[in-house]
Amino acid sequence: MKIRLNSIKLKLTLFYTLILVVLLLIFHFTAYAFLSFGLFNNLDDSLIKDLNKAQQAILQTNDDDLPKVLDEMNGSSKDLIFIYDVETNEVLGSSYVDQNVRSTLLKFVTIGTITYAQLLNTSDNKIHLYVSSLNVDTDPGKMIVVTHDTDYIYATLVEYREILFAAIPFILLFSAISGYLLAGFFLRPAKAIIKTANSIDPAELTDRIPVKSHDELGILSGTLNSLFDKIYGFIDRQRQFAANTSHDLKSPLSIIKMEASLALKKDRTADEYKKALNSIDEEADRLNSMVKDLLALATIDSAPLRAGTTALDLSDVVNDILDRWRAPFAVKGIQLERSIATGMKVTGDGRHFSGIVDNLVKNAYQYTPSGGRVTCSLEGDNDNIVLKIADTGIGIDKEHLSRIFDRFYRVDKETSGNGLGLPIVEGTVKMYGGRITVESELGKGSMFTVYLPKGRYFV
Ligand code: ADP
Repeated sequence: MKIRLNSIKLKLTLFYTLILVVLLLIFHFTAYAFLSFGLFNNLDDSLIKDLNKAQQAILQTNDDDLPKVLDEMNGSSKDLIFIYDVETNEVLGSSYVDQNVRSTLLKFVTIGTITYAQLLNTSDNKIHLYVSSLNVDTDPGKMIVVTHDTDYIYATLVEYREILFAAIPFILLFSAISGYLLAGFFLRPAKAIIKTANSIDPAELTDRIPVKSHDELGILSGTLNSLFDKIYGFIDRQRQFAANTSHDLKSPLSIIKMEASLALKKDRTADEYKKALNSIDEEADRLNSMVKDLLALATIDSAPLRAGTTALDLSDVVNDILDRWRAPFAVKGIQLERSIATGMKVTGDGRHFSGIVDNLVKNAYQYTPSGGRVTCSLEGDNDNIVLKIADTGIGIDKEHLSRIFDRFYRVDKETSGNGLGLPIVEGTVKMYGGRITVESELGKGSMFTVYLPKGRYFV
């Protein structure tokens, strides 16, 4: 197994092991303190109980029977019980009393000083002793003493410490190894992310990261996958766009080339040259308008959020465009009606709004036969400014309706136009946070509705 020094796995393992060390040490010292306190407390409790018991028994005993009673007591108790005479510094009841105990008694006990049980420790804290006057009134110089050495407590504490210190390295080793393996297990999706990101081909972008869990890494993988989807969709649209553009630019160019070559092949009459030049002129116009539309689309694509900042009256903009179309409509014999609310204030670029209205009116004009009617309305509701352009023209079949906003899409390839008008309208409307919808029935007519939300750009 290869261990990478700057991997998250290793960092997590080291971090948690360090925390475990600190916690174990805190636990150890606390447990040690509690254990030690508990053991000494138990000892002192039992000493004081034994002292009280012994005192009761001694007080009911004749002086002559005292040595025998003390012997019996010492035989049955784990403590050492004896009587200490303060005046003579003599001990009754035990053949052996530790020198340390004697000097402690000598140092701290004077006649009549102790009326209730008192705890004394030898200087090295090796022996605990409870002392109490046997009878303060009748014999203030005599003390009853109960002692017990603390060796067993220290031995227990040492044993506890040794077990713990021996166990700590194993606990740490076990937790470090299992932590490392667990971190590796849970970070496996990260490996898959790295592998996919490394192997992904930007031209294809078809690989996706396998999503196996719903934790943070699973969510990250899903987010990256949907990012790949979006980039793939974008690249695919660009590819399609480039293919369509070159295809559509190619046909007027070939016509121009063909007309020119044909005209130059042999001497022609003035009329023939004129016809050829007219055809070239028409195709150049087509090229010109297509390049203009392509530039408009490129601007929308490169700066989709660059809406203008000029204060405008949208009602005036719409009326101006409709005025310009009045003559062509009259010539074609189409009724052009309008219902434009006044004073629709907007912030933006006048060319953008003119472009939207002009494109929609142009389409209505183009796809409505003479004798038809086109209605344009502009009004505001609580949320939007709404522009509607309805015609009684040829209509659009359902199968085409969802595609007419695609770049270069044309229902009838024979009609003039390049299929870029509606995509430009849609892109511009989106630039202002709006949306465009279409309702249409084949043979009856179409209605395009543009919703421009009030707020940022529209008052
Ligand atoms: P074009 O320049 O070809 O008109 P557009 O993007 O403006 O390109 O329109 C795309 C297609 O949508 C058109 O080719 C046409 O078939 C259809 N279309 C657009 N507007 C109308 C309309 N008012 N009535 C019928 N068909 C329409």
